[in-house]
Amino acid sequence: MTVKWGLIGASTIARQFMINAIRSQPDGEVVAVMSSDAGRAERYARDNGIPHHFSDLDALLGSPVDAVYISTTNELHLEQTLAAARAGKHVLCEKPLALTSAEARKMVAACRKAGVVMGTNHHLRNAGAHRAMREAIAAGRIGRPIAARVFHAVYLPEHLQGWRIRRPEAGGGVVLDITVHDADTLRFVLGEDPSEISAVVQSAGLASGGLEDGAMTVMKFSSGLIAQTHESFTVRYAGTGFEVHGTEGSLIARDVMTQKPVGTLMLHTAAGEEELSFDREDLYTRALRQFHAAIRGEGAPSATGEDGVWSLAVAEAALESARKGRSVSIDPQLGSGR
Ligand code: NDP
Repeated sequence: MTVKWGLIGASTIARQFMINAIRSQPDGEVVAVMSSDAGRAERYARDNGIPHHFSDLDALLGSPVDAVYISTTNELHLEQTLAAARAGKHVLCEKPLALTSAEARKMVAACRKAGVVMGTNHHLRNAGAHRAMREAIAAGRIGRPIAARVFHAVYLPEHLQGWRIRRPEAGGGVVLDITVHDADTLRFVLGEDPSEISAVVQSAGLASGGLEDGAMTVMKFSSGLIAQTHESFTVRYAGTGFEVHGTEGSLIARDVMTQKPVGTLMLHTAAGEEELSFDREDLYTRALRQFHAAIRGEGAPSATGEDGVWSLAVAEAALESARKGRSVSIDPQLGSGR
């Protein structure tokens, strides 16, 4: 059976990665796009070879689509997911799922009640490098993991210097944009959850409106492992990386906090240095394949709705910590405002 996809949002990420990821599936078809602006919907459909376009959500949801991919700005994800669930459509939603973890929990509950599949588009779980790290840790190759470090400070490309750095009400800021990915990738690679976070944020010259464009966090995980992360929109030359250090070895990955299946992964132990090879499949294509399998009742999306609640709960706690100047416990059932 073909999965007919409707795109909610005439976005850059859909154009650059997700339309291709859907079309790469033997059973995937992009049949419609919705934009809040009729002219943009029409142009986007024409430029991307999409047969139908709408400027009204109900019209898209009333058309014969099986699943929707939501990549509008972050404040819109909640209502669009609730409407899609009511219409019986499967939902793959961009991160952050919403502006608060309480909203994200409502989205997960609505999809569960409607019996539709819900996924969060945390692409990094699909990166071969991160999957290889998770497997090496689970196989005991670095002994007991003690600490992790995530380097995810980048320069926001000029064509994306819009709502992310100017519109708090749209869910801008580097924490909702990038810290959510780092939190999710840490949970995935380590196979455990963070319980506490301390964060500091900065506005280093790009963001306005009280938004942060740089953040550093320190987290404690349930096993006692500690992790640090650095996210930025303003750092041009740092490069990205992900490290996990254990009692018997270290995993050091470089250039892996990216949208492409690139980078390197080294294992360092008493036996010396070993380069670990990993799968180079496109991250978004793999995510779509798992989502289609989940629709068929085979397993779950690579990142579920619950995973999206978790990553947002971490981001929310990071912002609360930065605001209050103290560490904050992370509880995806309670969220912030405690
Ligand atoms: P864009 O800024 O490209 O698109 C967001 C919205 O902005 C669109 O839905 C569109 O509204 C509006 N828009 C787009 N172009 C124009 C324009 N020229 N003039 C006016 N409005 C315009 O956002 P991104 O693609 O960067 O991000 C979208 C979502 O995807 C966010 O939730 C983000 O966090 C997430 N994301 C996830 C990534 C991942 O790897 N998982 C990577 C990048 C983003 P309308 O639809 O009404 O036309």
